[in-house]
Amino acid sequence: MNKKVLVFAESKGSVLRQVSLEALSLGKQIAGQGELIAAAFGSGADGYVEALGQHGANQVWTLSDDRYNRYHSDLYFHAFVQVIQETNPDVIIVGHTANMKDVAPRIASRFGYGLITDCTGVEFEGEEPIYIRPIYAGKAFEKKRFTSSGAMFITIRPNNFKVEPSPTLPATVPFQAEPVDLQTVIREIVLKSTGAIDLAEAKIVVSGGRGVKHPDGFEPLQELASVLGGAVGASRGACDEGYCDYGLQIGQTGKVVTPDLYIACGISGAIQHVAGMSNSKVIVAINKDPEAPIFQIADYGIVGDLFEIVPLLTAEFKKKIA
Ligand code: FAD
Repeated sequence: MNKKVLVFAESKGSVLRQVSLEALSLGKQIAGQGELIAAAFGSGADGYVEALGQHGANQVWTLSDDRYNRYHSDLYFHAFVQVIQETNPDVIIVGHTANMKDVAPRIASRFGYGLITDCTGVEFEGEEPIYIRPIYAGKAFEKKRFTSSGAMFITIRPNNFKVEPSPTLPATVPFQAEPVDLQTVIREIVLKSTGAIDLAEAKIVVSGGRGVKHPDGFEPLQELASVLGGAVGASRGACDEGYCDYGLQIGQTGKVVTPDLYIACGISGAIQHVAGMSNSKVIVAINKDPEAPIFQIADYGIVGDLFEIVPLLTAEFKKKIA
């Protein structure tokens, strides 16, 4: 294999997203002996070069401009187009994140590229990558390949690809963005408090449903999540009741998560919820109803009151971690 792969290194705040490193590791596999290029935008871009090099990037295109510190559809689109025109990649890989879900179809359409979204795996038939993605709300998987010529554009779901360090000393290519005629203007950014750890990238998620019964019912879940170094999520039932913010919702109309461990507390297991968490590596369900559908997909089930069980688990984990 001898391909030129471009990865967009997305950051949140001043931190490089884990999925960007996953994208680089996959990019390295696909590039083979070819070139692995990363692009980073925002005033922190230069600070990411070393980490990107540690994960195989041969070249890092940096746009050090504070207007790019936060995602803006038009700005990112035009800067991304510039990098593609300059580098002419065979394959483009980005995270399947809210921002990249916005910009990827625009780019693919602008250049007439094929786009395979939300990939959770890749297989090789000879040198040709075959991309695996979930369909029917995670009930089945399909395998897709590109048949057209032109660059192949894929988005990858966070937490599904191994991060493999592959140290290089990348060349840095600083560039300035061409002036953009903005179609949209961001007037205000309202930050919702959804916890320090990004839910979509968390390795452990403790989720609460309508069974928590009250906003305060999330406190024991929060405590368990903190002890485990995880994030708190929720079902729509809990969000609809006003127990927590919709930013925590997991499922078909919420976030899709694939942590190593998902602990569902007081969640019945409706299909729309399961669509957002069924690919978690290990699922633990705590529910007082032994017939709750969540037990059908759980690896471990605990029948009982979450207000008794969650504090017991927290206490046990505290002992183990201390
Ligand atoms: P319930 O179904 O009410 O379940 C509560 C559970 O808590 C019960 O199983 C009960 O036995 C248990 N329980 C109660 N008290 C305790 C206790 N003390 N200890 C232990 N267990 C207890 N839902 C989502 O989650 N995400 C989505 O993205 C989503 N999208 C949707 C999109 C559409 C178009 C539609 C129609 C629905 C969608 N829903 C979604 C809603 C979904 O159908 C369910 O209504 C919702 O998931 C139910 O939430 P729940 O499991 O918290 O509540």
